[in-house]
Amino acid sequence: MKISEFQKRTDDWIKEYGVRYFDERTNMLVLMEEVGELSRLMARVYGEQSFKKGEDAANARKRIGEELADILFVIGCLSNQMDIYLERELEASFEKKTIRDRHRHKNNPDLS
Ligand SMILES: [Mg+2]
Repeated sequence: MKISEFQKRTDDWIKEYGVRYFDERTNMLVLMEEVGELSRLMARVYGEQSFKKGEDAANARKRIGEELADILFVIGCLSNQMDIYLERELEASFEKKTIRDRHRHKNNPDLS
C-alpha cells in the first residue's frame, strides 16, 4: 500500500466507521497512548521488565506489530486532518537526513 493510499484508506475508514476525526489534540493524546502501549511491550520483550502473572507473553512480539500499526493509523488521522501529505513529507525527510547524515553514521566508531 502506498502512503497516499494509506491516508485515503484511513480517511475512508473514519468516514464509514469513526463518524468523524477526534480533534487534533485528542488524537495527539491517543498517539501518546498507543506509543505507551508499544513501550510497555518493548520494555518486556527487548528490555528488562517482566510480564505480570497471567499476561500473554507468548504473543507479545505479534502485539508489537499491532501497536506499530495502531500508531501509524493515528499518524494517518493527524496527517489527514491537518492536510499533511505524508508521502511528500517522508521524501523530504529522507532527503534532509541524507544530506545531514551522509557520513555521520559511517564515521561513528560505536556503530562499527
Ligand atoms: Mg494499541
